[in-house]
Amino acid sequence: HAGNLDTFATMYDPVMNPYSPDRLTLMTDLREAIRRNELSLHLQPQRHLESGLVSGFEALVRWPHGRRGPIPPDEFIPVAERTGLIRPLTRWVLDEALRFCERLNEVDDSLTVSINISAVNLRDPEFIRDVLNLLDAHRMAATRLKLEVTETAAMEEPLRSLAVLSELRDHGISLSIDDFGTGHSSLSYLRRLPVDEIKIDRSFVMYMDANEGDATIVRATVNLCHDLGYQVVAEGVETQSVLDQLTAMGCDGAQGYYLSAPLPEDQLLEWLEQHHR
Ligand code: C2E
Ligand code: CA
Ligand code: CA
Ligand code: CA
Repeated sequence: HAGNLDTFATMYDPVMNPYSPDRLTLMTDLREAIRRNELSLHLQPQRHLESGLVSGFEALVRWPHGRRGPIPPDEFIPVAERTGLIRPLTRWVLDEALRFCERLNEVDDSLTVSINISAVNLRDPEFIRDVLNLLDAHRMAATRLKLEVTETAAMEEPLRSLAVLSELRDHGISLSIDDFGTGHSSLSYLRRLPVDEIKIDRSFVMYMDANEGDATIVRATVNLCHDLGYQVVAEGVETQSVLDQLTAMGCDGAQGYYLSAPLPEDQLLEWLEQHHR
């Protein structure tokens, strides 16, 4: 059996091949981790720049793998996407994030939570129903939930994505385009999606206070997106000077280490006590 797998593995680029021995182990471990509830969720605050108030959080999954130490999501999310495990994983993240949102109600019942969604989720015929059921189960208004989709993910099977995203939007859920500027999407296609918010990729934001070109791209993106009626959030804000520049440009929201790293639930609630209102 192992021999067959080895032959199979050598036929493909090991980086792309989801069935390489290493990925098989990772997949088996991940399936177990989801089943045993061993994943955890960190939350990173977002701030509204004009008011200075915290507006919500992005949920980011963490896998504190027992034997290998923490595995970054950039490593296991692609495996989850290629093996179908992204379905139970996204469902778990949604459930966990909405549970946290319920806890937040005591602090502020208008704070939003953003979830990262894969292209695979958009092709899943049960996805819409799962989302609506979970909102229901947590008695959460759909307007509190934002779904983040990368340009690239939204471009896969564009008609299908459009249908799914439009239906979710009809229920009041917001849509963010993630990592904006790094994909190959055309604005004419994005225009057809029911987009509420654009998140400018951190590669343009991190050094914009030192790099004229980056600052120009961010400024132009903010203006263009505003003209198209989108809210704009900058990710990867690491310094006060970048925060000041974004505020001066009229960018709507900011997220990044300068405000706070992604934090576990309890630490985040402590952070909120100090930083909210
Ligand atoms: P992303 O959606 O672009 O998430 C933002 C990433 O930037 C996070 O990395 C976050 O920790 C990091 N970050 C936040 N502030 C700063 C900053 O000021 N500077 C820098 N350099 N980085 C910052 P993380 O948590 O390692 O996640 C990496 C990617 O994995 C995410 O990128 C997202 O694409 C994916 N991911 C994470 N959680 C999930 C999930 O639950 N579902 C799915 N489908 N993907 C997820
Ligand atoms: Ca994101
Ligand atoms: Ca992003
Ligand atoms: Ca990213």
